[in-house]
Amino acid sequence: MSASLWGYSSNEFRKYNALSGDIDVDLLIVGGGFTGCSAALSAAQKGARVALLEAHEIGHGGSGRNVGLVNAGLWLPPDSVEATMGQATGQALNHALAGAPDEVFDLIETHAIQCEATRNGTLHLAHAPRGLKDLEARHAQQCARQAPVALLDAPETARRTGTDAYCGALHDRRAGTVQPLAYVQGLARAAQDCGADIYARSPVNALTHDGDKWQATTSAGMVRAQKCLVATNAYHLGIDGFEEVRSAQVSFFQLATEPLADGLGDDILPGGEGCWDTALIMSALRRDAAGRLIFGAMGQPEGLGHALHKSWAQKALARLYPALKGQAFSHFWAGNIAMTGDHVPKAIRFGPNALCLMGFSGRGIAPGTRLGRLAAEVLLSGREQTLPLPVLERYRERFCGLRSAYYEAGARTIHMVDRLIR
Ligand SMILES: Cc1cc2nc3c(=O)[nH]c(=O)nc-3n(C[C@H](O)[C@H](O)[C@H](O)COP(=O)(O)OP(=O)(O)OC[C@H]3O[C@@H](n4cnc5c(N)ncnc54)[C@H](O)[C@@H]3O)c2cc1C
Repeated sequence: MSASLWGYSSNEFRKYNALSGDIDVDLLIVGGGFTGCSAALSAAQKGARVALLEAHEIGHGGSGRNVGLVNAGLWLPPDSVEATMGQATGQALNHALAGAPDEVFDLIETHAIQCEATRNGTLHLAHAPRGLKDLEARHAQQCARQAPVALLDAPETARRTGTDAYCGALHDRRAGTVQPLAYVQGLARAAQDCGADIYARSPVNALTHDGDKWQATTSAGMVRAQKCLVATNAYHLGIDGFEEVRSAQVSFFQLATEPLADGLGDDILPGGEGCWDTALIMSALRRDAAGRLIFGAMGQPEGLGHALHKSWAQKALARLYPALKGQAFSHFWAGNIAMTGDHVPKAIRFGPNALCLMGFSGRGIAPGTRLGRLAAEVLLSGREQTLPLPVLERYRERFCGLRSAYYEAGARTIHMVDRLIR
């Protein structure tokens, strides 16, 4: 079994040079995920001189490992976003993120990004009657905001998913799916084509401000810039002079089958929606353009967790689709999600003309794309009100290690019990 399906099937890989020597630009971006690449693209389109430094290859972090659900909004329902952030601020963020999938699919079209973009909505699946209650509440909240959502009953959910395991579903027509690594690689390619300097294999090891400009140092060069955006999220590598904004980490793994044979997968997600469920230890389900079935769940597939989570997933998938019992998997990979305590992303000003965006809490494709662009606009224009997030002077998450361990212990317990009793 090989590693990530997304690395295997992307048609958007481009080789970038590592930074060598010293350069001077307007905007320095650290991190080549959705947030950094979207910021680089929009700033370069506006004529700014941009340098993006990525420690590994573009999409190495969460952006290249995720499920590919392009959702409208955060994981939190919109009323909770407003209750958490305050009415006006929460409303502004809800509004900005409701339209964010449009921005993603427009960018894909404008820059002809080859990323298996499918816009048939997503299905939030009720794993149990209490999950359906949650979906009913979400449906009411979204309808109050005129969102194009529909609550599906169990038979319609079974028709759309090919399994009768769910009590119902919330269909959101604004959403869709992408091949996430290809999407982020396409953003980087478009940014470079618009004039941004993109550097891979260039970890920033120090970041300082000399009173006039930021200086980012790598082992082979230096970037000087008036403005700086740090977009390293869960994959942050230590940078001297920059205090890491830590968050709790939730691991999430995925397994992909080979393309399903004709007749075998015809009833499984024939509409091409991407799905996730209402369970506390959440699972996700989707197809790719080649007809593979991709199944994922919370859990860190390392050490003891490897065999446990993998065998649970094989059993759970066979339960959903008995015809797939014994089906071999060709790809198995995982990633870390940066969860903030209140599940809302943060914008932190860590110095003059400098922002860090982090904590997407499992919703980074559309939010990272939109907030990355807006952060670049704020930095270049100085107009902070453009960003639908409060800009914090300092931010600290508490008990990150404990909370990460708690999530993993929960995933292991649920998967172990579920494997034993069913
Ligand atoms: C398994 C999984 C499933 C997910 N599913 C979904 C989903 O279906 N839908 C959705 O919307 N979101 C999903 N998410 C969340 C989403 O992927 C993230 O929120 C998003 O990728 C964050 O993007 P980013 O650009 O901020 O950070 P990242 O993509 O993590 O990019 C940060 C980059 O910074 C680089 N970096 C770190 N330190 C340095 C340094 N010192 N110098 C230079 N570069 C550095 C890293 O190498 C990395 O490439 C998922 C996440 C995971 C892990």
